Amino acid sequence: MTKNSLYDVIIIGAGAAGLMAAICAGKRGKKTLLIEHTTKIGEKIRISGGGRCNFTNLHASSNNYICQNPHFVKSALAGYTQHDFIKLVESYHIAYHEKTLGQLFCDGSSKQIINMMLNECQQYDVDIKLNCNVIDISKTEQFEIASNEGVFTSDSLIIASGGLSIPQMGASDFGYRIAKKFGLKIIPPRPALVPLIVADSMRDMFTQLSGISNLSVAWYKKTSFKENILFTHKGLSGPAILQISSYLEKFHGEEISINLLPELDLKQQFMADKNHKQTVANYLKTYLTNRLIDHLAGNPDFNKSLTDLKKESLFAIADQLHNFKVPISGTEGYKKAEVTAGGIDTNEFSSKTMASKKVPGLFFIGEVVDVTGWLGGYNFQWAWSSGFAAGNNC
Ligand SMILES: Cc1cc2nc3c(=O)[nH]c(=O)nc-3n(C[C@H](O)[C@H](O)[C@H](O)COP(=O)(O)OP(=O)(O)OC[C@H]3O[C@@H](n4cnc5c(N)ncnc54)[C@H](O)[C@@H]3O)c2cc1C
Repeated sequence: MTKNSLYDVIIIGAGAAGLMAAICAGKRGKKTLLIEHTTKIGEKIRISGGGRCNFTNLHASSNNYICQNPHFVKSALAGYTQHDFIKLVESYHIAYHEKTLGQLFCDGSSKQIINMMLNECQQYDVDIKLNCNVIDISKTEQFEIASNEGVFTSDSLIIASGGLSIPQMGASDFGYRIAKKFGLKIIPPRPALVPLIVADSMRDMFTQLSGISNLSVAWYKKTSFKENILFTHKGLSGPAILQISSYLEKFHGEEISINLLPELDLKQQFMADKNHKQTVANYLKTYLTNRLIDHLAGNPDFNKSLTDLKKESLFAIADQLHNFKVPISGTEGYKKAEVTAGGIDTNEFSSKTMASKKVPGLFFIGEVVDVTGWLGGYNFQWAWSSGFAAGNNC
């Protein structure tokens, strides 16, 4: 195998985090190499946000991240904020808009973000090697990276290889293997921002409800999200469900609750309308789609009129709709998960630099680390912020 030239910094993984780290290192005059094993950079940026890339969130703060060490993200997020990334986007005259809840999307295409990052890499002379497979990494004085393109050496090594989501797009367990090799602790990875599969006992009902979307509050333990839910053939999806899925640590045997009428106090409404002669089912169709009510109408009280039901029976119906319990049997897995929760334990790193405490010169950034953002641009913000921290300290 041929010896290749020496670099100051080598970054493995040309996704959002790796690109940002490469730009920052290059800008500091470091001789930087960015290695990607697929044929393209930033593929997840390209497919994100339905092709428009929800590149950050106006309200991003440490409260929007799941991590065993909840304070860890603060330093990197403060070092490079959503406003810093917005400035970069504006400097390239990329038009964007706020869709909802502070989520910023390109007006045009996510390719604009990729081109911007690529342009910045070129400006700072970052070498990019695509189709480059790393075979082995070792460290003596320097890091030695053996690949199908030869051996590269560097003083600093940044691992930005992402999580396990969307394996068909280049996701790999590379980062976890490297962490293990260097003795770093890993919080077991799991799919997150992922559609949930309901227990067999409810599967038929959900198949019939498939396609219905409803503004709801989904909650699990003390965490709740008020957004749409979507009934699917296998269970539940939609933003509120994707958000809550990230909080489930094991899936089989868990139960989530759904308030199907978050904007209404149905008990109070029933009392105000208790003399109505309509059946409960017809009455509820004012508030919920017919198909949903028809399938919930397995409860015989739904076919009785409001006047014929006692307060306790009406309240039991209200409880059923405000606190609809859904037993979960699993998820749709990494093929459908937007991100991977868990990852390399943040206790292994400096929160200011993303540098390993055990292995000098080794950094981990982005999704491979045990930091998972909410849906809504928070994951890219983590990639930009952690990439910035490592790129400026390597
Ligand atoms: C469908 C979808 C939509 C999404 N939409 C949004 C959104 O709108 N907003 C948002 O904030 N987040 C979104 N996300 C999440 C976001 O894409 C990720 O959190 C983010 O891309 C993580 O950045 P990263 O650089 O850490 O990892 P990645 O973007 O996954 O990049 C890792 C890179 O490393 C490469 N790699 C892996 N193994 C190796 C190896 N052995 N050698 C060399 N290279 C390797 C991969 O090919 C990849 O290019 C979405 C995710 C998906 C799947």
